Amino acid sequence: TREIHLASRPTGWPGPENFRLVETTLEDPADGQVLVRTLVMSVDPYMRGRMNDVKSYVPPFQVDKPLEGGAVGEVVASAADGFAPGDLVLHNYGWREHVLADAKALRKVETPAGLNPSVFLGALGGVGLTAYVGLFDIAAFKEGDTVFVSGAAGAVGSLVGQFAKLRGAKRVIGSAGSAEKVAYLTDELGFDAAFNYRDGDVREQLKAAAPEGIDVYFDNVGGDHLEAAIASLNLYGRIAVCGAISQYNSTEPTPAPRNLALVIGKRLTIRGFIVSDHGDRMKPMLAEVGGWLTEGKIRFNETTVHGLENAPQAFLDMMRGANTGKMLVELS
Ligand code: NDP
Repeated sequence: TREIHLASRPTGWPGPENFRLVETTLEDPADGQVLVRTLVMSVDPYMRGRMNDVKSYVPPFQVDKPLEGGAVGEVVASAADGFAPGDLVLHNYGWREHVLADAKALRKVETPAGLNPSVFLGALGGVGLTAYVGLFDIAAFKEGDTVFVSGAAGAVGSLVGQFAKLRGAKRVIGSAGSAEKVAYLTDELGFDAAFNYRDGDVREQLKAAAPEGIDVYFDNVGGDHLEAAIASLNLYGRIAVCGAISQYNSTEPTPAPRNLALVIGKRLTIRGFIVSDHGDRMKPMLAEVGGWLTEGKIRFNETTVHGLENAPQAFLDMMRGANTGKMLVELS
């Protein structure tokens, strides 16, 4: 079987040289273990942080060891109660074609009718929970709010905009990095307005898209997007700080937001969060978002790359915006 190891730690932007495809063999499952074949795995922005040797909310990847990440697989052989060949399981041992895992590290899942197993890596998984918790709990969204979300054509962002519309937002605005993504937001996802942040000043473009200001900013990007949101936020506005992808490959501290003092007069709330702290919200998220999905009220796009050998490039391409919706790697 094959797996992807961390070959070296990147400085600044990672490249293919930081990854290595390794052939290995696995034993038969010992007592309590299960052999799983990966069907589909996730590549996510937070993995960039794990490539650095720094203390964070998740431990760093180890050089010359396989990378980790969300994946859905099929049980091939089992020496554990409750798991049988053919069972579908969700686990955190992505980046490898097979894994020999402790049954405790696996969660059995059943794909809802009409959906693919990859849904557990997207709308009905951590991605859906991130959008749900960030918008409804952290940003305390309420009906009638005007919402701005950056990274809006990505996995989390595309859900945030649609959730806000379904719960009665007055206006939803998104930013993304290409004309095609902007058209996707307004024509297919029902955003009221969208702009390409590469077309010009983010602050000016946001002002034009939200002439009456915004009440909530869901931040996936940081930097000039955060500064623009602070400028456009109304009194008592709220910011959920979910990510800062514009800074993940920076080698120098970044200056924006330069207008942070506006937080005082506008009485703004800026709150960061980590989705794994909010497992208790999974059940209500699955009920509400699962309903929207099966009723066809939300769209969740996937950009799928095939073959483990292409997983590093899929990750690198996602970091540069090649994905619309969730970036996934299917292993055949
Ligand atoms: P996405 O599907 O949104 O993929 C990343 C996207 O980021 C790219 O498609 C690209 O789109 C955009 N991007 C890259 N560089 C820049 C830049 N310099 N400026 C603006 N946009 C950029 O990923 P996810 O939905 O998985 O994650 C979105 C954010 O949420 C990330 O910041 C991630 O770290 C964060 N996150 C946080 C969690 C938490 O617990 N706090 C949990 C999960 C995710 P484009 O073409 O538009 O540039």
